[in-house]
Amino acid sequence: MDSCIFCRIIAGDAPADILYRDDTVLAFHDIAPAAPVHILVVPKRHIPSVEALTPEDEDLVGHLVLVAQRLARQMGIAEKGYRLVLNVGKEGGQVVPHLHLHLIGGMPLKIQKYIQSKNQG
Ligand code: 5GP
Ligand code: ZN
Repeated sequence: MDSCIFCRIIAGDAPADILYRDDTVLAFHDIAPAAPVHILVVPKRHIPSVEALTPEDEDLVGHLVLVAQRLARQMGIAEKGYRLVLNVGKEGGQVVPHLHLHLIGGMPLKIQKYIQSKNQG
């Protein structure tokens, strides 16, 4: 997938601040962090989104979460808490069409309520 930015990072053809790699996943700092800690954990295989997962991917998804848990501990944010996010598709806010788990933390996080966003117009 030459056109996929995350595949290019995985192949070493595009730069990234890489924190962790193994046989199946890669983790790197998000280029536009939403919080003091914002790391993306991505499968090395090009999977477009959660919608493309199959039962064979169960172990991979579990691995993504456990790698994120380990990185949260390493970054010193595990005790206070953090957020793991999988954006799926257009309305889910997914921009990069290569599955990625966001690890976000280092500050108190809120969820924007539907009723608030509706009132903000
Ligand atoms: P999404 O909205 O698809 O769930 O999240 C994509 C994330 O990838 C965004 O937080 C965005 O800042 C990050 N991102 C997009 N392009 C790059 C890139 O080239 N390098 C890195 N490190 N992060 C990227
Ligand atoms: Zn890709």
